[in-house]
Amino acid sequence: MRLPAPGIARRVVLDAGHGASNNHGNTSCRCEAEESFTLTAARAVADRLESTGAFALRISRESDRAVEYRERVEEAETWGAEAFVSLHSDVRGQPERHVGGCPVSNLSPGFSVLWSDEGEPALSARRLALARAVAARMEEAGFLPYGGAEYTGLYEPDPVQRGVFVDRHEPTKRIFVLRQPTMPSVLVETHHALDPREVARWDEPSTLDAFAAALGAALLDTLEPEAP
Ligand SMILES: [Zn+2]
Repeated sequence: MRLPAPGIARRVVLDAGHGASNNHGNTSCRCEAEESFTLTAARAVADRLESTGAFALRISRESDRAVEYRERVEEAETWGAEAFVSLHSDVRGQPERHVGGCPVSNLSPGFSVLWSDEGEPALSARRLALARAVAARMEEAGFLPYGGAEYTGLYEPDPVQRGVFVDRHEPTKRIFVLRQPTMPSVLVETHHALDPREVARWDEPSTLDAFAAALGAALLDTLEPEAP
C-alpha cells in the first residue's frame, strides 16, 4: 500500500446500490429496503475515506431521487473516477422463517466481492486485482468471506482469494456496473441482509470503520500510481 503524495486525492465513486427507478433491491430481516441501507453505508464510508485526505469521493446518488445506472457510470467517467465501487447487501437462498413479517436466515453469512471478466483484458485484470485486494483486506480485518453455495450457475468462485466471484450470469443478465465502467469496478455484497447478526453488526460504527479502512487499503494497493 502506498499513500498518495500530500494534496493528491484519488478519485473514487461509491455507488449506493439500487435506488434506480423500479429497483429498490432486497428487503432485509428488519424489512429495510436495500437501497436505504446502501445509501447510509455509502455516506458513512465516503466520510471515513475522505477524512484520510487520500481520497476524493463521490456517491452515485445523494438522496432518495432515483438515478439510473447508466447515468452513474457516465458521471463517473466525466469526473475522471479512478475506481467504481458498488455497495450492496445480498440475499442468498430462501428465508428459513419470518419474524415480525420480515424474512430471516442464518445459513449463509459473509461478504462477497463480484467482478466481471467481460471486455478488454487489461481492464479485466485491473478489476480482478481490485476485487482480490478488497476481499483480502476485508478478510484480514475480520470480515467473513461467503463460501458461495447459493451462487452456483450465477457467479464462479476465484481460485486465489476467498470471497471473490466472477459474474457468470447469461450475457444479457450480467451486472451493468461491473462490465460497463472504463475504470476498474467491483461490487461488494457487504453481508447477508436476512441474517440478523450481520445486519446488527453493519449498524455499528466500528464495522464501518473497519470496512472503510479495508477498502481504502485495497484501493491504494491496486490503483495505478498517480501522474507526477
Ligand atoms: Zn443489491
